[in-house]
This record gives sequence, structure tokens and C-alpha cells, in this order.
Amino acid sequence: MRAIQMVRPEAGAAVVVNDLEIPTPGPGEVRVRIANTAICGTDRHIFHWDPSIRHMITPPVIIGHEFCGYVHACGDGVVGWSQGTYVSAEMHIVCNKCRACQAGNHHICENTQIAGLHRNGCFAEFVVVPASNLVRLDPAIVPPHIGSFLDALGNAVHTVQAASSIAGRHVLLSGYGAIGALAAAVVQFEGAKSLTITEVQPGHLERARKWVAGLDSRVPVFVHNPAEEPNLVAQVREQTSGGVDAVLEMSGSPAAIHAGMQMLYPGGEMMQLGIPSASDLMLQDFSREFIFKGLTWRGILGRRMFATWDEMLGLLQRGLNVEHIVTHRLPLSSFHAGMALLDAGQAHKVVLDPTC
Ligand SMILES: [Zn+2]
Ligand SMILES: [Zn+2]
Repeated sequence: MRAIQMVRPEAGAAVVVNDLEIPTPGPGEVRVRIANTAICGTDRHIFHWDPSIRHMITPPVIIGHEFCGYVHACGDGVVGWSQGTYVSAEMHIVCNKCRACQAGNHHICENTQIAGLHRNGCFAEFVVVPASNLVRLDPAIVPPHIGSFLDALGNAVHTVQAASSIAGRHVLLSGYGAIGALAAAVVQFEGAKSLTITEVQPGHLERARKWVAGLDSRVPVFVHNPAEEPNLVAQVREQTSGGVDAVLEMSGSPAAIHAGMQMLYPGGEMMQLGIPSASDLMLQDFSREFIFKGLTWRGILGRRMFATWDEMLGLLQRGLNVEHIVTHRLPLSSFHAGMALLDAGQAHKVVLDPTC
């Protein structure tokens, strides 16, 4: 089968299109024939051999962790799944034994293995996953090009739902990449009082302005480039009666985290999904903003298994529109072209099709 494999631990040229054996499902596992798969920001970190992610990857490994497809073969002991069933899967594979798992917090399992990083992923014609990780999809509600990135939509929904509430509150979203764009759509759908988006990348900014205006929503949305607006903190505070109630931090930029804390109204909360790109957060943030405003800062990882999956499928069924974020659909073998589009800021979500 065709697969996108990282063959050596180094940047760029170490990720190749390879012809590999079709994997055989072991006990409790299922082989899925992939319909569509999508490139995630994490795949860009892997492709560029980013120091933040190296410890999780041991090449050779098939990369990719966002997909949907059809059950193709079941290993010993698998019950309840039959060939042809339309599915996606949670690619965080958890131990079910640690204290986090036992408490029902599988998404923060201390022994998490991620398919596409620690073990073979889904940039291929077939992938093998534990049957317990499968999620059944309704093709009438989730077409394959949308089903390909439920992992990312789950991140967005999990981040939004980590706030104590969104409806009727002022929300700031910093970082309008793929997950940011999905989170913005969820915030508009859930009926925030206002949504302020900050982004510095020109392509992302342009798409943010176009897409938020195109969604059927009564939520007022303001899109800003903080690099060009030195008084943005004061402006946002004024726009939001003294400050925002919730920050969805998707950029990992220390400047954005700092500004987010400054823009928060006392008692507000920051949901931190972006992984900081540097370790220079200023301690003054923690006294002036964090402590004296009584803020909450919550780390966001993955999606709840499987409550977030249920909730996101419910949102799609109720009409949440995320169609716009798919800017490119390419054959799997054009992976490198898709990566180049993302690197150039010309794409938001690139969906790959291994069947053509
Ligand atoms: Zn992802
Ligand atoms: Zn565990």
C-alpha cells in the first residue's frame, strides 16, 4: 500500500512516499481502509523535525493521525464491528490502567501512545487501530472530507467546552490556524456575546475575515493583527466592557499569552491549547494579571474519550458548518505539495485521498 513514512529522524527529506505491506490487525484491533485523511499542525512539526516533538517519534513510522474510512478486517476477539462500517478513530491510544484512566480522564492518560507519532498512523491506504478507539459515523451528517479532521474539530470543541460557559460571554481567540478556525465556528454557533480573533499570518487573517463574515451567526466578530495594532489590549478591553471572559489560546506565542492575560476581565479563564514556542513568559504576568485578577489557566490536551466525540457529532448534526476550512483536496501521493501550501500559509486544512 502507499504510505507517507518518516524514514529517518531529520527534517523534510526524511518523509517519503513509500510502498509498504498492508498491516494485519492483531487481537482486539481493526484494519480500516482510509477514505480521507487530513494534515494537522502536528504533522508539520514532525515533517520539520521540530525539537518540541522529537522525543515522541522513532522512525521509521507512517505519520498522520486524522482520518475516516471503512472497517476492512477485524482481529481476534473483536465484536460489534463489521466490514464496510463508516468510522473515524481516536488516535490517542491509552492504557486504561493509570490513575487518570481510572478516573475517566483517558485524554490525559500518563501512558498515551499517539498513532502517527509513537506508532504507525493513517497517511496510508490502510491503518490498524484498537477496536475500542473506533467511532461510528453517519455518512448523511459527516461526509468523508469532514470526517477526515474530526480529531482537530475535537480539539476545538474540547477547548471551547473547557470554558465554564461561552453563550453570552466575550471570547478572545488567539491563533486562527485550522483548530482556531474550527473553534471560532463553534464559538459563533454557541452564541457568544462577542468573538475577538487575533492572528498575525497574512493568509490566515484574510481567511478569518472572509469566513467569520460568511457564517450565519449573530455574534459580533472582530479580527485584529496585533503586530500592527499597538493599542489592541486597551481597544479590546473597551470593546468588551472591561475585558473578555474567556481566552482560547491556540497560538502558543508568548506575546499572545501575555496579551490574553491582559485582555481578560477579573475572574476570567484562559484555555491553553497552543504549545508555547519559547520559555520566556514573564513572571510579572503571574502577579499583575494571573494572581491579582484571580484568573484560571487551563491546559488543553486532545479530546475527552469519548464525550467530546459525541458532543462534536451532535454539533454537526445540529448544523455546525466547518466546510470552509477545507481549502485543498489532494491525492495522498501529493502530501509534499500539501505540506508546502501549509508552510506558505496558503492553506488551512489539506485533505488527502489515498484512493486516487
Ligand atoms: Zn491533529
Ligand atoms: Zn492511562
